Amino acid sequence: MDARTDIALTTDLGIEAPPDLAPDAMSACRPFPAQPAHNEALGFPGALVEDWQDQAIAKMGELLENSRPLRVFLDSCVKCGACADKCHYFHGTGDPKNMPVARQDLLRSVYRYYFTPLGRLLGRWAGARPLDADVLEEWFTYFHQCSQCRRCSVFCPYGIDTAEISMAAREIMNSVGLGQKYCNEIIGKVHKVGNNLGLPPAALENTLEGLEEDVRDDTGVDVKFPLDVKGAEVLLITPSADFFAEPHVDGLIGYAKVFHQAGLSWTLSSYASEAGNFAMFIGSYEQMHKIANRIRKAALDLGVKRLVFGECGHAWRVAYSFLNTLAGPWDFLDPRYPVPQNIAAITHDLIQRGGIRLDKDANAGMTVTLHDSCNVARASCLGDRPGDQFTIPREIIAASVPAFVDMHPDTIGDKTFCCGGGGGLLTDELIDLRVKGCKPRANALKQVVDDHKVTHMVAMCAICKSQFTKVLPQFGYPMEMIVSLHQLVSRSIRLATNA
Ligand code: SF4
Ligand code: SF4
Repeated sequence: MDARTDIALTTDLGIEAPPDLAPDAMSACRPFPAQPAHNEALGFPGALVEDWQDQAIAKMGELLENSRPLRVFLDSCVKCGACADKCHYFHGTGDPKNMPVARQDLLRSVYRYYFTPLGRLLGRWAGARPLDADVLEEWFTYFHQCSQCRRCSVFCPYGIDTAEISMAAREIMNSVGLGQKYCNEIIGKVHKVGNNLGLPPAALENTLEGLEEDVRDDTGVDVKFPLDVKGAEVLLITPSADFFAEPHVDGLIGYAKVFHQAGLSWTLSSYASEAGNFAMFIGSYEQMHKIANRIRKAALDLGVKRLVFGECGHAWRVAYSFLNTLAGPWDFLDPRYPVPQNIAAITHDLIQRGGIRLDKDANAGMTVTLHDSCNVARASCLGDRPGDQFTIPREIIAASVPAFVDMHPDTIGDKTFCCGGGGGLLTDELIDLRVKGCKPRANALKQVVDDHKVTHMVAMCAICKSQFTKVLPQFGYPMEMIVSLHQLVSRSIRLATNA
């Protein structure tokens, strides 16, 4: 492998320096609340219920009863401060409530008041406070300024996971009728149509036919984009952004070329036409289960033998960590293959075995860096070996392009900075937060652009790609700078003709 993954970087990025404090700077930044129809479609109350305080505390009690980690996270913080400057939103905004420990305390203080003897007895002296309308507003504001990226937990000596606390808070709010429009509307679309975008089967079929034509025109090779093919070996579950948005669709073309060249029969499903599972962002197991079950039903109906996921960070986390619990057992699939598999692992394996051949010259002039997506980096793996989530994409890139440069080590791997749009925050009304939250990543990117003439940044997550194409122009970079991992493969793969 000729990737330069260990270059010495001496420039002080300044990204670890705490920002100037700007108390309440982001107190007015919050997402649109869900409309009654969005909430009710998911079984939540349409609007804030009358006795919301009592119901919220009861829900908190239920979560504490069912989740030992949540109680441990709320009990074990020693206020050491190690996480305080590790959040990209704190770096970008300077708002102290975006320090992970402060974000946790929004929930912890209420937990102490209602669920600990000391909190009940000493109130504010014990860091406890009752749940009132101001607190609820603070929850809605600042728990929607957490992308659930888990970077802070890497630095916490007790492994306290702010993402879990943020999910619990959102679950409590949904249970009393205070949902977030963006997430709840999208989950409703998946239940109704099968994907986040509300793309109906006929439109999907039309899109895939168009892609076949495009690839044929481009390469002269008849690469198929099959839909609802019974008896195919592989069912590909991919984020719906892959069907049309740039640069996502270039990734989908790359997957199709890999399947074509490897001789693997595969299909997409019009019923399970979405890899994303936004229910994780709102902490709803029931909704996660419902979405995941669409995949099970599609796999059974089509009679496939393998389940493969396309490029999507949080979808891969749900698949890798929870799919068996949510929608298993998968005993009807081919036992030789792990369930699920990631397209990157399949491509990597084919490269290693000589099953596909890549020509770096096809990407001549590109110097590429990689943005490790949070949910791939910190919440899953891609292959059999620990750390494969870092090596596999780098080795695919190294095989596809002439030059690869890693960003500063404090900003990649398990310390990767979030793109700023994860966790259900990829919505226009939060654009100010998204731009500010992207600052640490943009700083690290600037360094490799300045020092190493990096031309492109790869992402293997639909949310990262959407966020960067929208936000990086604010930092002076063109949206075309963001490329899909399989876009590089697509350009460099040597295709055999069908004849
Ligand atoms: S999980 Fe990520 S976004 Fe949330 S507080 Fe921690 S670092 Fe910030
Ligand atoms: S690093 Fe962990 S223990 Fe220290 S303040 Fe943050 S959450 Fe608390």
